[in-house]
Amino acid sequence: MNCMMNMKRYIVSLLVCIAIGMPMHAYTVVIDAGHGGDDPGAIGRVAREKVLNLNAALQLGEMIKEAYPEVEVIYTRKTDVFIPLHQRADIANKSKADLFISIHANASDNRNASGAETFVLGTERMEDNLDIAMRENSVIKMEADYQSSYEGFDPNSIDSYIMFDLLQSDYMNQSLQFATLVQKQFVDSLKRGDRGVRQAAFLVLLRTACPSVLIEMGFVSNRDEERFLASEAGKIGITRSIFRAFSQFYKPGQVVPVLKSDSIKVPTTQEQITQSIQEKKSAITYKIQIFSSRNKIKNTDPCFLGLKNCTYKKDGVWYKYMYGNCKTYQEAKKLQETVKKKFKDCIVVAFDGDEQIPVKKAIELQK
Ligand SMILES: [Zn+2]
Repeated sequence: MNCMMNMKRYIVSLLVCIAIGMPMHAYTVVIDAGHGGDDPGAIGRVAREKVLNLNAALQLGEMIKEAYPEVEVIYTRKTDVFIPLHQRADIANKSKADLFISIHANASDNRNASGAETFVLGTERMEDNLDIAMRENSVIKMEADYQSSYEGFDPNSIDSYIMFDLLQSDYMNQSLQFATLVQKQFVDSLKRGDRGVRQAAFLVLLRTACPSVLIEMGFVSNRDEERFLASEAGKIGITRSIFRAFSQFYKPGQVVPVLKSDSIKVPTTQEQITQSIQEKKSAITYKIQIFSSRNKIKNTDPCFLGLKNCTYKKDGVWYKYMYGNCKTYQEAKKLQETVKKKFKDCIVVAFDGDEQIPVKKAIELQK
């Protein structure tokens, strides 16, 4: 009977969708990039959690859309903006989401802490995970009317967490199933440290009316893990792991589809992980900026005072001309002394691949 009712409702909504020309989605997944805007989340030496989260969220959404065009992908944010926690859950509830994936990165005072973990809403061994719940929940204090929005919930008071004890999520089993698949991918396919599937009192999960997980991809406070998370191989590896877990959850027992991005190699052994961290370090180069010009200048122009193979970087209306290509800051400083004889105001600049980054950041990244 119930099934017949559901069928009827499905057919009616299908007809409505056809009539008003709306695409009918059989399944909706909401991807939530944690933090954003004025709230950077966890801060590493160079990486910002909000940036890593957004990158992973968008990449994951693209993978799901490519493999399953029938799935509607909704993001809680697609840019660097601040979204209150309750709005994130509202987005999932309004779109009648079938799955909610919140993506985060972790930090700890203990610099050695590392590994990936996936959380579901729950109270089992809640005390063990109180710190992380408090840290992630405390972002609500940045919301102007948080006391009324969260009915007096104080993210930093242990008492506030007692109310979670009374809550029983209807979606616990499915949330646990998906969380387990994510962790399995992280550990088996990507060789990340395993902190397991855990339960904690995250406000963002409390308010969603569907299976929901919160993924902590790794620790930006751990030097090697931060490098891994910020490396191209690391980024794609993390997203691919979540995508594969989604595939197994969405279509149990079926082969995970091959994606265009599968041609990009990701580290699957400890040596490859070390290598990808090493690559991230060696992508850093230093150059000597000799002058800027509004005009593009030929390489052979006498204004280079005999310096060969100068390159330029366009910055707004300016062409910034540079000389040299050094692997270390020390090497660049030495070169600067020589170049100063011709261009006395020349400065050292740094690049991460093609992107110019502050010299300080480059030095930090290479440590
Ligand atoms: Zn976070």
